[in-house]
Amino acid sequence: MFELDPNSLQKIEKAKSMLTLKLLKRIQENLIKMNYISLDSFQYDFINSGTAGWVMCLFQASKEVDNMEFYDIYDSFGWIESDNFDSIIEDELVKNKLLLKGDKLEMIARELGLDKNDIEECAVCSKVYPKEFMHKEKCEYDDEYFNYVCKHCKGFDYMEWYRGLLEKEKSYQVWKYVSATL
Ligand SMILES: [Zn+2]
Repeated sequence: MFELDPNSLQKIEKAKSMLTLKLLKRIQENLIKMNYISLDSFQYDFINSGTAGWVMCLFQASKEVDNMEFYDIYDSFGWIESDNFDSIIEDELVKNKLLLKGDKLEMIARELGLDKNDIEECAVCSKVYPKEFMHKEKCEYDDEYFNYVCKHCKGFDYMEWYRGLLEKEKSYQVWKYVSATL
């Protein structure tokens, strides 16, 4: 993060003091209308801030709460200031329960009591699985980076699996259930 001079900090503080719940709710509404976020959007996946659409949402929200001074301050920001202030808006949206905190993996790990490093999103279907049940593949474009793909997307063959189980477990119990699906 770049250092901000006292003048910038003061402008940012002023704009921050104008971020009332009413304005934040209008910002959220406009972001939803513009299809920038939905209720299942997470803060860290929230990569659209700073774009033209995002700025239009701030403009529209300021107009709706009759506080164009807020937008005028935002509009006067240089890019370092607006970058900084965009994160403040995101944080305030989270604090006021208008945007989900952190990211999806973080939330799932927290709720299920798992280590975030042990789970991953499938590169194909985007569902989340324990890494130990996924295929780890070298990324095509970057040797340092790995993609994780779930077994389902990797073409997991259920019939093969059932048959293997039948072969291994000759017991009647297994046969009874597995044969019903074949
Ligand atoms: Zn998948």
